[in-house]
Amino acid sequence: MQVLLRLLCLLTALSPMAAAKAQGRLEVVASFSILADITRQIGGERLNVSTLVPPEADAHVFQPAPQDAKRIAQARAVIINGLGFEGWMERLIKAAGGKPRIIQASKNIQPLKSSDPHMHGLDPHAWHDIANIKIYVAAIRDGLIAIDPEADSLYRQRAQAYLAQLDLLDAEIRTSLADIPPARRMVVTSHDAFGYYARAYAIRMLAPQGVSTETEASAKDIAKVIKQIRAQSIPAVILENVSDPRLLEQIARETGAKIGGKLYSDSLSLETGPASTYIDLMRHNTKTLKDAMMP
Ligand SMILES: [Zn+2]
Repeated sequence: MQVLLRLLCLLTALSPMAAAKAQGRLEVVASFSILADITRQIGGERLNVSTLVPPEADAHVFQPAPQDAKRIAQARAVIINGLGFEGWMERLIKAAGGKPRIIQASKNIQPLKSSDPHMHGLDPHAWHDIANIKIYVAAIRDGLIAIDPEADSLYRQRAQAYLAQLDLLDAEIRTSLADIPPARRMVVTSHDAFGYYARAYAIRMLAPQGVSTETEASAKDIAKVIKQIRAQSIPAVILENVSDPRLLEQIARETGAKIGGKLYSDSLSLETGPASTYIDLMRHNTKTLKDAMMP
C-alpha cells in the first residue's frame, strides 16, 4: 500500500508537464459537453475548458459534487445554456463563491414555448437548430472577449471560421433531408428535446415525455403517442443517448413501428463515439433520422 501511494505521488509529481502546458490558459467551465465543444472551437489553446455534466450524462437530473464547486470557484468564466436547462446551477454558483463571469449562451435566441411544468414555460434545447448555435457562438465569443480582451482577434477569427463551418453543415443537413417525402417526416423520441430541430428542418417529432427527463411519462401520455403512431402511420421511434430505452421499446412492440437507431439529444458521445463534437452530433442525428424516415 505504501509503495502504491508513493508511486501515485510520483506520477502526480510527473504530471506538471501537462500542467505546464495548460499554464497560462484561462480556466473556463462549461455546464455540459455540447457547450464545452463550442467553447473550445472559439478559444482553442487559449482556454482550458472543462465540463460539469460529462458526455453521455443527463443534465436535467445532474447532481453536482463538491469538486464541481471548486472548479467553478477557480474559473474565470462559466458557460451555461440557460432557459432552465441547468436547474442546479444557480445554487452551485452561490455555494462555490469566487467571481466567474457567467456567460449565458442562449441569451439572444427566441426560445420555443413548452408546457412542461419543470421548465418555466420554455424549451431549453435550442442547440438543435444551427441558426441558434450561431447566436450561441456570438454570445460565447463576446463573453470571452470581455474577460480576456487581449485575445480579441483570436476569438473573433476562430469564431468566424467556426461560423463558416456551421453554415456548410446547415446546407448539408437541408440537402440530406430534402428527399424525404412529406408524409413520412415524422418520428417519436423519448423526451421532447427536438422541438427546435423539428421547426428548423420541417419534421414532426413527438415524445411521450416532456422537455425535461425529471418526470416519467404518464400512462395517458403513452397512450396518446401510441394512438398517434397508429393513426398517422409514423414510421419509426428513435432512442436517445440520455434516456432509458425501455419505454420506446415497449411502444415499438405495441405499434409495430421500427426502432430507428439512437439520437444524441442533450450530450455529446464519448471521444470514441459517433457524436464527440457538436458538428458530428448534428451529422449523426440527421443521418439517423433520414434512415428512419425514408421509405
Ligand atoms: Zn433534455
